[in-house]
Amino acid sequence: MPGHFHRHAATPQARKAPVHCSTCEAVCCRLKVVLEPGDTIPSHLTTYLPEGPRVMAHDEAGWCVAMDRTRMNCSIYENRPAVCRRFVMGGPYCRAVRVEYASRNGKTPLKQED
Ligand code: SF4
Repeated sequence: MPGHFHRHAATPQARKAPVHCSTCEAVCCRLKVVLEPGDTIPSHLTTYLPEGPRVMAHDEAGWCVAMDRTRMNCSIYENRPAVCRRFVMGGPYCRAVRVEYASRNGKTPLKQED
């Protein structure tokens, strides 16, 4: 997923820690989501970057506007963009953006599930 975060090497502890959406603050839904030709997203949820690409719009707090802030999940999950479908939970990019987010917010890098 092209995003505005830089990759960071995860610490050994971070690499081992379990990651699951149920214990994450939907950090990946703060990333820039560039739409692809096959995506069918309602126009009121999208915007255009100055450089031209059509992307998911973000709210004032930085989350994708398709995210249900009450349930912290995707309100268009069945129809979500291709780049969101390819994003691997617990994969290297998921872990990297969690570390980045935690460092910005002064939190422990990764939450433990137990
Ligand atoms: S479309 Fe859904 S899965 Fe993709 S960033 Fe927005 S809320 Fe998250």
